[in-house]
Amino acid sequence: MDRPLRVAVVGAGPSGLYSADALLSQDEVAVMVDVIDRLPTPFGLVRYGVAPDHLSIRSVREKLDGIFDNPGIRFLGNVEVGKDLTWEQMEQFYDAVILAYGASRDRELGIPGEDLPGSIAATDLVNWYTGHPDMPPDAFTGLLAGSRSVAVIGVGNVAVDVTRVLSKSPEEIEHTDMPEHVFAALRASGVREIHLIGRRGPAQANWTTKELRELGELADCGIVVDEGAQVDDPASVAAIASDKATARNVAVIEEWLARPAQERPRMIHVHFRSRPVEIRGTGRVEEIVVERTTLDDEGRASGTGDLHTIAVDVVVRSVGYRGLPLDDLPFDGDRHVIPNVDGRVVNGSDVMRGLYVTGWIKRGPSGIIGTNKKCAVQTVSAVLADASEGLLERATDPDPEAVMLALADVDVVDHAGWRRIDAAERSLGEQAGRARTTLHDRSDLIAASR
Ligand code: NAP
Repeated sequence: MDRPLRVAVVGAGPSGLYSADALLSQDEVAVMVDVIDRLPTPFGLVRYGVAPDHLSIRSVREKLDGIFDNPGIRFLGNVEVGKDLTWEQMEQFYDAVILAYGASRDRELGIPGEDLPGSIAATDLVNWYTGHPDMPPDAFTGLLAGSRSVAVIGVGNVAVDVTRVLSKSPEEIEHTDMPEHVFAALRASGVREIHLIGRRGPAQANWTTKELRELGELADCGIVVDEGAQVDDPASVAAIASDKATARNVAVIEEWLARPAQERPRMIHVHFRSRPVEIRGTGRVEEIVVERTTLDDEGRASGTGDLHTIAVDVVVRSVGYRGLPLDDLPFDGDRHVIPNVDGRVVNGSDVMRGLYVTGWIKRGPSGIIGTNKKCAVQTVSAVLADASEGLLERATDPDPEAVMLALADVDVVDHAGWRRIDAAERSLGEQAGRARTTLHDRSDLIAASR
């Protein structure tokens, strides 16, 4: 090819940015990359997923930001593919498109009462407390102020994050970058009791030990394991013996079990072997019905028929994320991913030439941020191999300026615009004695980018 390969990466989260980095860090094929995001800001789940009090994980964005220092990359924020740029235009401007738009929706429990007011998705709560522009500022203010007891369903890291943020005292979160309205709502929160509910045992939980330990180290909040913590079944014994991380998790739970009874202003109650079967209430959540479970030799849970209820005002469903289909592209509705072979999108047995996936929309919502690096390298290897074979000279209008002309009526936020948003957030934070305060309103973000 006698011009650089034009690649669009759709999604400026870690998986998208790691792909851009992998494309620009090789010298086999000359590449120019546009990273497109429907949000005015880059970093995806690092900004709108990682808990605000996990400052060291959030600081990954400084590293991701450095990727934009390469002259071969542009950020096109506040641009929605399928709307601001049609798929026909994408084919016109780019030789290859890497979809890295993640898995933004919640998985459902599929039990009666799930839609009652007061039953909320962890994805929405996380988006709200991190200041996502799609969440109204008052989305949970009234609910938190009027609630005392919350059930969090699921025992993964998101459930741990949500439980911790709701259990911390105002002083413990004061230094974070949450928007002002979130601080105000959490200060006024009436929540004093959180029930963390897992359908299997401590040896089957999905959390990581570091995150789990934090729940037992909160200033104003005690923790007690209420039920189902036994690990003497064959599946748990085998899991503990074969996996060090599982053994460490179980040791944390055992340490909590051994603690003397605590009287604290806030309490976390952990329930294992408890499967939610119904959410009940008249006009809003009032209680959750759980069924005690037993584990088979493979560690799978089945109900025992032994039901009991826990009185709660709010149910937070934290049972995993789910990717969404995109326009007419093929979609695996069971795994909620775009079907692919090593990152090349496939429709049945046909490869969709020029179309690739990476991150959660490629492999499902699992792994830590770093997992996306390896995943991106695999996808980029496929792109480069196809380019080297001459399969990707497809763009009919590869001039980088042609894209900008097509977006003339859109408030595109480029990287310099993001840097201005960054400066505005730092300055807002400084006024309150913090490193940063997140701007949440889309029009404020656009204004700050100017
Ligand atoms: P996850 O790790 O997949 O955990 C989902 C939890 O929901 C599991 O405990 C699962 O139990 C449970 N569950 C699923 N369906 C259920 C049902 N119908 N009823 C009751 N429980 C049900 O998902 P996640 O917590 O959303 O996290 C997503 C990914 O992001 C993970 O890889 C996580 O480690 C990562 N993450 C990492 C951090 C961090 O490193 N600090 C923070 C946040 C997220 P079963 O096992 O029984 O299915």
